[in-house]
Amino acid sequence: MQSLRFKAIDNLRLNAEVSVKASTKITGIFGENVFTMKVARQFLSDEAYKSLVNSIKGGKKIDRSMGNQIANGLRAWGESKGVTHYTHWFQPLTDLSAEKHDSFFTLKGDGTPIEEFEGGALIQQEPDASSFPSGGLRATFEARGYTAWDPSSPAFIVEIGHGKTLCIPTIFVSYTGESLDAKTPLIKALVALDKAAVDVAQYFDKNVTKVTATLGWEQEYFVIDASMANARPDIIMTGRTVFGHAPAKGQQLEDHYFGAIPERIYGFMRDYEQEAYKLGIPLRTRHNEVAPSQFECAPIFEEANLAVDHNTLLMDVMTRVAKRHGLIVLLHEKPFAGINGSGKHNNWSIATDTGVNLLAPGKTPKTNLMFLTFFVNTIKAVHDFAPLLRASIASAGNDHRLGANEAPPAIISIFIGKYLTEVLNQVETRVGGKFDEQDEAMLKLDIHKTIPELMLDNTDRNRTSPFAFTGNKFEFRAVGSAANCANAMTVLNSIVAQTLKQFKKDVDALIDGGDKKEIAIMHVIQKYIVESKSVLFEGDGYSEEWAAEAEKRGLPNVKTTPLALDAYLQEDAKKLFEGNDIYTHSELEARHEIMLEAYIKKVQIEARIMGELATSHILPSAVKYQNILLENVKGLKEVGLDEAAYSNQKSILEELSNHINAMSTGVRNMIEERKKANALTDTREKAIAYCDDVKGKHFDDIRYHVDKMELLVDDSHWLLPKYREMLFLR
Ligand code: ADP
Ligand code: MG
Repeated sequence: MQSLRFKAIDNLRLNAEVSVKASTKITGIFGENVFTMKVARQFLSDEAYKSLVNSIKGGKKIDRSMGNQIANGLRAWGESKGVTHYTHWFQPLTDLSAEKHDSFFTLKGDGTPIEEFEGGALIQQEPDASSFPSGGLRATFEARGYTAWDPSSPAFIVEIGHGKTLCIPTIFVSYTGESLDAKTPLIKALVALDKAAVDVAQYFDKNVTKVTATLGWEQEYFVIDASMANARPDIIMTGRTVFGHAPAKGQQLEDHYFGAIPERIYGFMRDYEQEAYKLGIPLRTRHNEVAPSQFECAPIFEEANLAVDHNTLLMDVMTRVAKRHGLIVLLHEKPFAGINGSGKHNNWSIATDTGVNLLAPGKTPKTNLMFLTFFVNTIKAVHDFAPLLRASIASAGNDHRLGANEAPPAIISIFIGKYLTEVLNQVETRVGGKFDEQDEAMLKLDIHKTIPELMLDNTDRNRTSPFAFTGNKFEFRAVGSAANCANAMTVLNSIVAQTLKQFKKDVDALIDGGDKKEIAIMHVIQKYIVESKSVLFEGDGYSEEWAAEAEKRGLPNVKTTPLALDAYLQEDAKKLFEGNDIYTHSELEARHEIMLEAYIKKVQIEARIMGELATSHILPSAVKYQNILLENVKGLKEVGLDEAAYSNQKSILEELSNHINAMSTGVRNMIEERKKANALTDTREKAIAYCDDVKGKHFDDIRYHVDKMELLVDDSHWLLPKYREMLFLR
């Protein structure tokens, strides 16, 4: 029987013959499946519309009667588009979205069939959610959780085939109110940032009444043929290859980055983009990435809460649309060894309701000082809470990038460019460390004239930094490609909120002591620069010298997830989150537990699939070939040929036998380690055992032998599609 691998190669042509609809004008379809405010205006009464607006702008609660009206409007809109079902759409702690569909259809008491959608069902639902991760929170209180409408993110319609479902973005909390999802803490962090940033922005402009965080993510991903993936149980089960020798050609020719997009992939991109546009996801760019079969897309930035929803939604859309094309999207951070992994750069800034980007250098001395204030506060936040920021991006998948030999390092540092480094130096080394009225000149630094040009110049854009200032925003580059950005965004916005709160206190204290406002601000900025400059680094973040230098500077370099997550339970983290009403202690502990458990399960599944593949795929192929060699050597010897005639086959036989033995021993030992790890009751210790003992001691070792055998064994016996086939055939 032909193996799946060869069937997959045969299948390529068939899979490639999917036709895509012709492109349409984007503005013609953009947001057509979104309940925008414009649509709301059409489908809601004045009263209901006003109440929706108030709830979005001012976070006001919507009462039940108004809820009924809004629900009716939503249903009318949905039905006009062919919707039959609705769902609360939420983001549990799995990095995926969750939904449970209910129909509008129901029966009256007398059996009359009707379609209805009540306010109660819009505002709150009780999904039987006991099998979502809860870190023990629900077990101890109440088995159920509930989802609650988040009006700040608009409802939308998801089309799957010809079916259409109205999705209501919701948060997910336990019965006693603890958050069980990615969104609740994010929304709280955004509220904290709003308050803290408005207080500080008002030093400069009294008209500022609201500050929002903006997020523009860049999503990297791999796309491979689905039949190939189906022949790789490791990809299907874990999203990555646990075995596979590097192909003769990898990314060394640097011919893929920004190269012509392969036609088949191009069709897929256009298809998912159209779906995304209908959902109001403002995609802007698409291009090839560095590794073969790796690509990237990025939207225009949006308010952070909405941007997070859009990213989660897009990951889902891409995965679904790929199937139509006989393709599979790999969002995993490291699907293939030896070539680049994938990240999700989080471009982040803060903007006022007066239309000012607080991280864009200003045009006047006053706005320059405002820029400098938010710029330095962000640096200080990252410096003070670096371990927490590192924890926010920790996952089994991301460990392959952070702390491995790849971008970016696990050391959190900030790149700000030559010019701003100089500006900060000047502020720091002010004569006598004092500012006075005569120093107004210093406030007139021509920051605004020089920065934009410098920043647009790519030579001043360090690509190896995990956290880089890029002209009018910071780019947090260490976020994993499969992660929900909410985690990183919750932490980033929380730490900046906390730092701004402290900044306000420090400045007010100086003002109370008699300093003029601007002078007080300069003094605190100067103090913050001194306290946090060790986090600034302009050099090559991948170099060994940096690791050594960072250690000297006392910057943390935590390479693995189980240890990185400790930061969530440190005193400063507890204080930060509780003080800003983002996580209670028990929520934090639950989250920590959930993340450790996710880590354990992922490594456990990888270990199992490794063992299974080694035994049921690799070993049989290797033994078959071993026997062929054996027969050959025996036969040549038997007919009386010199050893020279079969020495080559003999040495391959020997090599192969050694690898078979070493692989099998490795698998046995790995299973032993797993048993030991499973016996541990403390979740953290168990995660560390999985990390250091199961994975650390055995994964690379087993893989080494398997990959060696891949090069030795008769190609026609090898069952798993090879890297060159997955990465270069389409
Ligand atoms: P690259 O880093 O690849 O050069 P771009 O310069 O095209 O990427 O920008 C990347 C992302 O940054 C885009 O999603 C863009 O919308 C986003 N971005 C631009 N300005 C802001 C901002 N003020 N806040 C948040 N994101 C922003
Ligand atoms: Mg970028």
